[in-house]
Amino acid sequence: MNNIKCIDCGLVNWASDIECRRCGSLLTVQEKRAQILALEQSEAKPFLTSGLQLLLVLLGLELVVGLVSQIFQLPTDLAAGASLIAVAIGFLLLIVCHIWLLARIFEQSVAWGLGALFVPLVGIIAIGKFWEHTKRSFVGQLICVGIVLMAMLFLPGQLKPRTAPVQRETANRIVLPIR
Ligand SMILES: [Zn+2]
Repeated sequence: MNNIKCIDCGLVNWASDIECRRCGSLLTVQEKRAQILALEQSEAKPFLTSGLQLLLVLLGLELVVGLVSQIFQLPTDLAAGASLIAVAIGFLLLIVCHIWLLARIFEQSVAWGLGALFVPLVGIIAIGKFWEHTKRSFVGQLICVGIVLMAMLFLPGQLKPRTAPVQRETANRIVLPIR
């Protein structure tokens, strides 16, 4: 860095300057203050990072698609296929989030990371112990579980109690020729 920007008036001063040439404020103190400020800002990352936002969007999208397919009574096989794909995607994302979570624990302590890898209970304790570092990946995991559960909820067939199975089947038979 060969110049220092004064945070009081914005004037860019030479690095050799001790005081701001316009307002006279101390630059060395300011530099320290700016460093602390930058550090604080990097620590205070928004809770919903882009990865988490993406997961929430997926969850929302799944809810909308699920509800729309319920309302418009999609053919059973199509709805089942879509649900199974959603379950698979949810599981895949869950694994990714779990690896992300483990990586965060390993960053803090290799011993805790190994413990979390092999003993589920240790993993839960580690999440609490390093909460500031694990909270996002933990919430990410919860969203993934939500994606899987919701996909199962919208899964037609045996898993879901049907209120009127006979009516449903006749409706499907009518729908089939139109496809
Ligand atoms: Zn100044």
